[in-house]
Amino acid sequence: MLRYVTSFIILVILSGCQFTNVTNDEQSLPTRAQLPTDIPTSELLLSPTVEEVTAIFIATASPTETPVIVRTHTPAPSPTVPAVILLPSYTPSHTPPAITRTPLPSSFRFGQSAEGRELLAYRYGTGRHWIMLVGGIHAGFESNTISLMERLRLEWQNRSNEILPEISFIVIPRLNPDGEQRGRIVEGRFNGNGVDLNRNWGCGWEETAEFGNGPVNPGLAPFDQPETAALASLIQETQPSAVLFYHAAADGVFAGTCGDNPDLSANLAEVYGFASGYPYGGEFDAYKVSGTAPAWVNSIGIPSADIELSSDDNAEFDRNLRALQALQRWIAAQ
Ligand SMILES: [Zn+2]
Repeated sequence: MLRYVTSFIILVILSGCQFTNVTNDEQSLPTRAQLPTDIPTSELLLSPTVEEVTAIFIATASPTETPVIVRTHTPAPSPTVPAVILLPSYTPSHTPPAITRTPLPSSFRFGQSAEGRELLAYRYGTGRHWIMLVGGIHAGFESNTISLMERLRLEWQNRSNEILPEISFIVIPRLNPDGEQRGRIVEGRFNGNGVDLNRNWGCGWEETAEFGNGPVNPGLAPFDQPETAALASLIQETQPSAVLFYHAAADGVFAGTCGDNPDLSANLAEVYGFASGYPYGGEFDAYKVSGTAPAWVNSIGIPSADIELSSDDNAEFDRNLRALQALQRWIAAQ
């Protein structure tokens, strides 16, 4: 019975999603069914298959109800990912933005690279909670993170109803276009000045930095590189509800912990890790890291994490899309 009741919740959520992007004014949205009150939020089930949703709708809907348009695309779970996802209990960790917010342009330039290439961002959805996704910080060396960003852009261009009314995504596919030009070699990890852009941020920055068993250039000072300075300004101006940086291929979700509130990003990492199936909750300990992007974002009061894909040649689209769906529901509850 629980399965059917909780699945009905999913149905209600999905039916609401049809109206995403029509307007940012919730007052004009069609009235939604009331959720049962006897099921705690922590037991909401997510990520059913389309077939399950369809079958449950037929079983539970009255003949007079308007038919629900079920999404035609739901990613098939990979064998290693649980098909049923329990949301961790919700703890607010970031001050919610005002009820109304002027959306960013659908695409915009926010800076340029060391070699003068444009840094571009794309916005999907019009909700007041902004989730920022950053791919390609290590560029050519981790080019599957760029592929993932491009797959997500295509997904939300074609299926805008997958974004909840409360949510906007800001997608930055390639923070390091200089390194992308160098290709999938270790030099493709760095920007045009030879700096590692994930060692150049302002919380825990050090004059010497490491990657693997060797040294990398962290810049002469925090934010002395145009890419990190531009993105830091954008984050401060836009105050996203969460910022995720994509890497490969350490297989895990690693929360930013720098600053006065080292646990600020833990819930974000838990939601994403649980829904995606990537390990979460631990510190990155393969080698010492300093001055990373999520560390600084956490230190200014915004939850942030590194998402390390499990492979270096696959976008791992399905499991990341599923995690972003769970993340939307979690943040929309703020
Ligand atoms: Zn990386």
